[in-house]
Amino acid sequence: MTLDYNSLLLALGVSAACLAVTLMGSWLVRRAETVLLTATVGLVLVVGGIFVYSAYVNRPQVVFAIGSFVLFHAGFATIWGAGKQFLTGHVSIAAIAIRALAAMAVSILPMLSGYDGLAFIADNLAIALLLFATARQYWLARAEAPAPLLGIAALYTLTAVSFLLCAAVLVADGKLVLGKAPSNWAEDLSLAICIAGMTGIGALSLALHQWRLAARHRLEAITDPLTGLLNRRAVFDEYGTRPMGTTAAVIVFDIDHFKSVNDRYGHAAGDRVITVFADELTAHCRPGDTAARLGGEEFALVLKEIMPGRAELTAERIRRAFEAREIPIDSEVLKCTVSVGVAPGRSTPLDFDAMLSAADKALYAAKRGGRNRVELAGHLRAVPLEASRTAS
Ligand code: GH3
Ligand code: MG
Ligand code: MG
Repeated sequence: MTLDYNSLLLALGVSAACLAVTLMGSWLVRRAETVLLTATVGLVLVVGGIFVYSAYVNRPQVVFAIGSFVLFHAGFATIWGAGKQFLTGHVSIAAIAIRALAAMAVSILPMLSGYDGLAFIADNLAIALLLFATARQYWLARAEAPAPLLGIAALYTLTAVSFLLCAAVLVADGKLVLGKAPSNWAEDLSLAICIAGMTGIGALSLALHQWRLAARHRLEAITDPLTGLLNRRAVFDEYGTRPMGTTAAVIVFDIDHFKSVNDRYGHAAGDRVITVFADELTAHCRPGDTAARLGGEEFALVLKEIMPGRAELTAERIRRAFEAREIPIDSEVLKCTVSVGVAPGRSTPLDFDAMLSAADKALYAAKRGGRNRVELAGHLRAVPLEASRTAS
């Protein structure tokens, strides 16, 4: 038994419809992923285009050809939009519409003028261009997940080339009027590539979606949602058991009289103060430094490479910058201060835990000493790392 062109076309339509349902299902589970919705809409339009085009293959009436042009171009422009949205996080409906309308115009006008051969050349070229542009979006996004993204970009490119071939064969035939759907080796090849390409792109897109979700969950697990800084777990994961030598320093911060901010202005105002301090901390971070919110209104800054005697200057700069910040709360302007404890690196390396508790002790000394000040850890337990390890 041999399958004719139209049966294969319908098979493509059905499997594309199944993929659309799967994408739609993924979107329903996670509505924030609007890129899945965009891709679903694009695919549904293309599926519609496939069925209308199939009708045209059976009965070449202009209305079917135009219907398929409208659906294909709207669909492929929307699929481009999904790629753009994947890359940049947003896409405007206008950007999609402009591409769709341009593609429709160049193919529908010759069709209406009776030059259906010309119309199909334009149709194939327009789809090829939209597919190349889609491939480009995933190519540009490749750093995020190289294997699936390069695969997707390659499959879109391959599919685009197959449409380009269809156009080329029609140009070579030189017939401006066909009277029926184009039928040649390039059309057959293109259909086969579309079936393979869509299956591959569908599978890779779903894998990519899972990849993104997993990466997002990993990020959420180490991020403090209020400030966007790393959380306590993240700093301990990073520095937990690592010995810290002379070039490192740990600084801890605790906002002064924070409870009274909450009591007087409300919890939201307290949150605002916390984010303002986090901004100040981030602004003073250099590459390699780690800023984290340890909890409540307590923060840590881990300096990996700092000259002796410099950590306390950094701490003092941050203290002063925060003291100077005017924080608008309702109609008032609030000013807050922070107390700071600094544990500078020592020639005998200590692990992060020991550095942190030394910084904490200095912080309490700063609180006792009247707050809004930086205190240096003076009496670090000079326990060598090996000794502290064997002790624990
Ligand atoms: P001190 O100068 O001694 O540090 O005084 P303080 O009032 O800052 O002392 P304390 O550390 O006891 O107060 C911390 C308060 O922070 C207690 C808690 O209700 C509040 N808090 C903890 N987490 C959050 C948060 O995420 N948002 C807000 N608004 N408040 C929080
Ligand atoms: Mg506190
Ligand atoms: Mg406090």
